Amino acid sequence: MAAAMSVLQAGHQPTVFERYPATEPRGNILNLWPPPIEALELLGVDVEDIGAPCQTIFRNNKGRTRATIHISDELQQKYGGDFIGLLRPDLYKRMYDSVPEGIIEPNLAVQSFTQNDDGVQVVLSDGTTRDFDVLVGADGIHSVVRKTLWGDQPIREHNLHIFGGYTMKPFPDVQRGQVVISWSKDKQGSYTSIRSHGDSGFEWWTIEAHPKNTEFTGDFHATATRIASEFPSPLPELVAATDPKDMHRWVLRDRKALEKWSSGRAVIIGDAAHATSPYAGYGAGMAIEDGYFFGRALAGVDLSNLAEVRSALEGFEGPRITHTASLAQRAYMLSQVMHHAPKPLRPLRDLVMDHTGLLQKVAADGTPGEIMAQVDIIRDTEKRFQARMSSASNDEKVA
Ligand SMILES: Cc1cc2nc3c(=O)[nH]c(=O)nc-3n(C[C@H](O)[C@H](O)[C@H](O)COP(=O)(O)OP(=O)(O)OC[C@H]3O[C@@H](n4cnc5c(N)ncnc54)[C@H](O)[C@@H]3O)c2cc1C
Repeated sequence: MAAAMSVLQAGHQPTVFERYPATEPRGNILNLWPPPIEALELLGVDVEDIGAPCQTIFRNNKGRTRATIHISDELQQKYGGDFIGLLRPDLYKRMYDSVPEGIIEPNLAVQSFTQNDDGVQVVLSDGTTRDFDVLVGADGIHSVVRKTLWGDQPIREHNLHIFGGYTMKPFPDVQRGQVVISWSKDKQGSYTSIRSHGDSGFEWWTIEAHPKNTEFTGDFHATATRIASEFPSPLPELVAATDPKDMHRWVLRDRKALEKWSSGRAVIIGDAAHATSPYAGYGAGMAIEDGYFFGRALAGVDLSNLAEVRSALEGFEGPRITHTASLAQRAYMLSQVMHHAPKPLRPLRDLVMDHTGLLQKVAADGTPGEIMAQVDIIRDTEKRFQARMSSASNDEKVA
């Protein structure tokens, strides 16, 4: 949806195929950093009170603070925090409402495609074919477009599972405006303030090791309760207050970074290009940013001209690959250190986390720099985009 909105603003006509019959906003927990919110705003999405602005704090399971994130004063003032806590369906609904009617065509899966110098032909699940100038695979971790372009590289299993949920019940004694990320010896138990439809609540998640390809047969709520019992209040109370219908389980996985996302007239973005573990808390954020930058790269491009399309796609993917690859890899490494470190090394790891500035340096100080850099890149890109669009519209008036 972000790519479609950005492409439309750049003066081209997008079509979005969605394989599911109904485009309903679904899902559970989500946090967004300021850059995707900045991008959404520029794409025309209503971001007013979209979530609860929070400050991110890393703690051990005794409540001792290990590190905190501090973004710039300017971003703090604009967004009120660094990591905004919300519910995924709220985001999808706001994005969906901003896409003009008729652009999203539900109940149509892209099954395959072919391309030549002049265009791309997609084969759809209803047996029809459609011709386009450019194909964007924003089709998630099992992307058909990625597989066609780059083959079937393996998914990297993290041997972890996550239970997450939310409650809108009032917890008057729990401090709002915080994302608290805590680890015990081999588990993570975290929670954050959220806002949804003008109400305040909390979402939480718990992570522990779970061997890949092993079926999970336990009870979600009981398992989350067991993991949360290793952490201080309010996590156990938040889990206890959560209606089982408002919680979910996922396995953690990603894919190793690619050196290229585009070939000819086709390109991949979002999880299709850089499936990222929830450990980063940035997969959806990066997908939104990809969509924003992709559309901006097509401004003023003659889509019938392969050389112009190639140059735009290469200009788009270069910086995005560098940015997303580093975030995805850092999330993978952190999850392995926190959940799969050999037992004898764990006390040493926790001593370092508790008594040195390593976590502050690696996870907490690196993040604001990247966030501020992304916001700056978005703002520079937008200035160039607006200048280009207004000079194109003046040319049209003259013509
Ligand atoms: C537990 C959990 C917590 C997370 N928390 C966060 C967080 O806090 N912050 C954050 O930024 N990210 C988070 N993420 C990551 C985030 O959810 C993903 O990175 C994001 O959803 C990727 O978006 P996408 O649009 O690229 O892919 P998807 O969300 O997978 O969407 C792909 C879409 O393409 C459709 N599709 C697939 N194949 C086809 C086809 N052949 N034809 C037509 N349609 C097709 C699918 O139906 C789907 O609608 C989390 C993930 C998990 C699992």
